[in-house]
Amino acid sequence: MSTDLGELMNRCRGSGLRRTKALEVLLGTLLKADRPMTLARLQKSRTLSSQCDKATIYRLLHRLADAGIVRRLGLHERAAYFALIIPDQHRDYLICTGCGTIDPIEAPCPVHHLEDEIRTKTGYQNLYHELEFFGTCPKCA
Ligand SMILES: [Zn+2]
Ligand SMILES: [Zn+2]
Repeated sequence: MSTDLGELMNRCRGSGLRRTKALEVLLGTLLKADRPMTLARLQKSRTLSSQCDKATIYRLLHRLADAGIVRRLGLHERAAYFALIIPDQHRDYLICTGCGTIDPIEAPCPVHHLEDEIRTKTGYQNLYHELEFFGTCPKCA
């Protein structure tokens, strides 16, 4: 199952977010990025900054997080990363406590089996999980 922009916009409408060009471009940027992005990176994006100012990007990200469409990752506000929450898509991360670098984990996920079990037992649909592992990266060690 792949998520496209139209589906994300539907989820936004369901959460009461106003459909704006800025929202559409922000979601498109996150979708294309396929990894978590910092606020600073997003604010430097030309396509985004041609649509809205920095404060709007910040506000939209937090509204998306409140709506459960975007997730905030990382250690603190200054090194916060934002990523789309996509059901049935694997999203586990490795985070350096030194520099705040974040990397997707390229390893078989240990909890898919558990996810199936929870689905069967509870009847929940659209289950997803995200694991965050913290440590010191080779550069900081
Ligand atoms: Zn590091
Ligand atoms: Zn996983």
